[in-house]
Amino acid sequence: MTPDTPPDLLSMTPIELRSALESHFTSRGEPKYRASQVEKWIYERLGRSMEEMTDLPVTQRDELAQSFRLDEPVSDVVQRSEDGTVKHLWRLSDDKLVESVLIPTESRLTLCISSQAGCAMGCTFCATGWGGFDRQLTAGEIVGQYRASRRWAHENDYGSISNIVYMGMGEPLANRKALHPSLTILNQGYGVGARRITVSTVGVIPGILELAERPEQFRLALSLHAPSSELRRELIPLEKRYPLREVLAALEHFEDGGGKRITFEYTMIDGVNDAPELIELLGDLALRVSAFVNLIPFNPIPYQKWRPSKPERILEFSRRLASRGVSVAVRETRGQDIDAACGQLRGHTLSQIGLKKSVAEISE
Ligand code: SAH
Ligand code: SF4
Repeated sequence: MTPDTPPDLLSMTPIELRSALESHFTSRGEPKYRASQVEKWIYERLGRSMEEMTDLPVTQRDELAQSFRLDEPVSDVVQRSEDGTVKHLWRLSDDKLVESVLIPTESRLTLCISSQAGCAMGCTFCATGWGGFDRQLTAGEIVGQYRASRRWAHENDYGSISNIVYMGMGEPLANRKALHPSLTILNQGYGVGARRITVSTVGVIPGILELAERPEQFRLALSLHAPSSELRRELIPLEKRYPLREVLAALEHFEDGGGKRITFEYTMIDGVNDAPELIELLGDLALRVSAFVNLIPFNPIPYQKWRPSKPERILEFSRRLASRGVSVAVRETRGQDIDAACGQLRGHTLSQIGLKKSVAEISE
């Protein structure tokens, strides 16, 4: 992007948007209420271009289009699973591809969005990790996945999106420059409640501390996957930089903020992280930060021979954790017939290899 690329309306927080629009219109001798008209097109009518803003005079639409961008990702592929899960592959303005997934259940419609094209963290069980890092998404590109998915859900009788999880491609806390404004925009601009938005991280401590400082009650999911540092190091390279002990301390700080909820994601891999001896340790960690534990069967990927844990073992984990007073749920893998997990569809399109990774529904 060149320095003289016009600013992107979708990347602005509501306060920034208001101020940019007001100065744009007043400097042209136009009334201030034009700003509210445009805001309505952005947040309520989900307008895709200035041309659509038909309550503005044509010259004003043209001038707006010269001064600002309104680039929403374009749908490249849509796949719908037998279980209703829908996966979108979005083409960004530079032709990079990212994915989002809509996961319907009886009581809610969860949208899983990407925060980066690819991921630099290299977790050994993750298809996106094996694919490497491409680039950061802008706040507008993150929010754009929500707008376009919301429109799609409306047009296809899926109803309204109730929950958003940052569990698609990428590590959101490694893209905080875009994450923070995207949270503000979704919450204040589009009216998605903070408790209905979950940021999932592999344990980027400075990012956890920043989220702790925010006044809103966004939820935090830690991709734990192992309750000891030694085992975790084999799955998550970042464990060497941010060891579990320190991540836990950051989570305690996050929880001290009051009203802030934590979830642990635990992907269960046969013979790797599912030994019954680990249950007690996992339970201790969960109780320490009052975390809700999601047990997720590992979704096989082509680069690893690993298999998901046996259902009996997953049940044993869940029963024994529950009997220790831990809130726990076993998450089914959704949309397997369409490889409905972030990382997979892009993989197919890019190289025709079937990448596998599960999208688990997080919000209990
Ligand atoms: N980078 C963030 C968010 C994106 S990954 C994070 O790691 O938390 C979203 C979730 O999918 C994470 O909990 C991740 O551990 C999980 N995941 C990745 N690969 C998986 C696989 N093959 N099977 C099951 N879950 C997987
Ligand atoms: Fe990145 Fe999350 Fe995958 Fe790890 S699990 S490689 S942090 S997307």
